[in-house]
Amino acid sequence: MKTILVTGGAGYIGSHACKALKQAGYTPVTYDNLVTGWRDAVKFGPFEQGDLSDRARLDDVFAKHKPDAVMHFASLSQVGEAMSQPGLYWRNNVVGALTLMEAAVAAGCLDFVFSSTCATYGEHDNVVLDETTAQEPLNAYGASKLAIEGILRDFGAAHGLRHVIFRYFNVAGADPEAEVGEFHRPETHLIPLMLDAIDGKRDALTVFGTDYDTPDGTCIRDYVHVCDLVDAHVLGLEWLKDGKENRVFNLGTGTGFSVREVIDQSRAVTNREVPYEIGPRRSGDCTRLVSGSTRAETELGWTPERSTMGRMIEDAWRWHQTGHYDG
Ligand code: UDP
Repeated sequence: MKTILVTGGAGYIGSHACKALKQAGYTPVTYDNLVTGWRDAVKFGPFEQGDLSDRARLDDVFAKHKPDAVMHFASLSQVGEAMSQPGLYWRNNVVGALTLMEAAVAAGCLDFVFSSTCATYGEHDNVVLDETTAQEPLNAYGASKLAIEGILRDFGAAHGLRHVIFRYFNVAGADPEAEVGEFHRPETHLIPLMLDAIDGKRDALTVFGTDYDTPDGTCIRDYVHVCDLVDAHVLGLEWLKDGKENRVFNLGTGTGFSVREVIDQSRAVTNREVPYEIGPRRSGDCTRLVSGSTRAETELGWTPERSTMGRMIEDAWRWHQTGHYDG
């Protein structure tokens, strides 16, 4: 298994995956429509511009590169946007993934690694979120990813599409060499917004709600370093190559950080004040999302060794100060 089709390879997680794949001896072929991704982020293998809805273009790319597997990252991923424009999420994420799976099956490319999300679980008070937890998403983003998981299962049963599903918790940090990093326009994620506020690139960070049922009133998330996250994907490919069963893995560390704790750690790492103000809750946000599973560690041999909050902010801060994309 050598050539991997990476949809969304010009995006934050996909570009880090391409780097990890190249380092592991694979050729990552990026397929991206550049709506949210960046041409400058494609540094580790060939680039094919195209949309997931374009079946003819997908067929051409499968025929040209003959990939051995697909890693599917391309997706809209903003909870707020998903709440206001659910149709966009269902069409882009679900119909796009369906078209991709149909093209993969038609091309005989039957190993598929999918980036899903802990947002498929929804709100579960005092329940440990493991891979068997009921999936009751609170927003159209999580619902769209849950639907794709269902299609994958059906395609696995009917067409032999072998798959590993990763349910991500909150992805953070950047390539320590700052070749690629997190660069969304507009930015909506906590850590890059906070770093922008710290160095005056934008006004104060708004903390979305301080009346949650948590020790300090702010939402709690489980943050995982993007480099650890993509390492799991390489292990997922090996899992499929070894002929193992279709499997779902949570990717989180099991440690939760509140928004206020992330602010405190950012102050400590950057040695700068974090300008912030308190705002209302953001619609669609869950109180607490923390993984309660060690399946990825025990079965895949995954070690999220870079996923300390200090390291994630340090790497994000380095990228923030030195890296950017122009197009
Ligand atoms: N958050 C915040 N202010 C912001 C952006 C995010 O308070 O400007 C909070 C958000 O409510 C959530 C956490 O930070 O509790 C992480 O949000 P992010 O958008 O980074 O990731 P998500 O959890 O939505 O995947």
